[in-house]
Amino acid sequence: MISTLWESLLDLLFPPRPGCPFCGAPGSGTEVCCTCLSTISGYRLEPHCCLCGRLPEKMAPSAPDGYYLCSECRRHGWPFVLARAAGPYEGILKEVIHRFKYGGSRRLAVPLAALMVEVLLSETLYANIDLVLPVPLTYNKLRRRGFNQAGLLAKEIGSGLKIPVSGSVLVKITDTPSQTGLSRAAREINLKNVFKVTDARYLQGKNILIVDDVFTTGSTMSSAAAVVKRAGAVQVFVVTAATGRCS
Ligand SMILES: [Zn+2]
Ligand SMILES: [Zn+2]
Repeated sequence: MISTLWESLLDLLFPPRPGCPFCGAPGSGTEVCCTCLSTISGYRLEPHCCLCGRLPEKMAPSAPDGYYLCSECRRHGWPFVLARAAGPYEGILKEVIHRFKYGGSRRLAVPLAALMVEVLLSETLYANIDLVLPVPLTYNKLRRRGFNQAGLLAKEIGSGLKIPVSGSVLVKITDTPSQTGLSRAAREINLKNVFKVTDARYLQGKNILIVDDVFTTGSTMSSAAAVVKRAGAVQVFVVTAATGRCS
């Protein structure tokens, strides 16, 4: 009842677009239109790093076997097995994520998560996930924003794939300090002790999927995944709604 009232209030404050939830083109109001879908699915046809999922800044050197590994992934490992995204953090997807995250359009979690589920189902490596964890926000940030965008995506993904979701096993204890201009090594030191596992029993011997809205430098995700692995997870996988470009 309270949530229905809350939803109605949100409808008054942020009226849903009449058509495509992404671009507003005429339609049922729940389905993402063909134009938006084809723009976003074009990403899957572009060469992207087979490990971190990011798109290359310039045209990727085409590998004979069709696989492309970005220069960062060639230089360093990650604490996760692979990362994928529904599309690039550009154009319509970037605009939708901004509306979702900063404009309070929580219902955008549904079509965004549906695209992420499609990606998860298309990669066999994602087949044995035991638990879904959103990248958490600190208590203060959560109070200011009112919701965790990654939490809403994780919830939708969990129900789409019938996998349990926990918003309390992985917590964020301090706000991310500014990362601007820092090297990858410096960013990693900067993010040390930002995340904490509250109960390692949920992670031991399990394959974990960590969910966030955007993957850019990968530092936040790397730091969260490292904490989850240290707590005893077997393998950590990553999915985001959008991803950046690497140099
Ligand atoms: Zn559209
Ligand atoms: Zn990469």
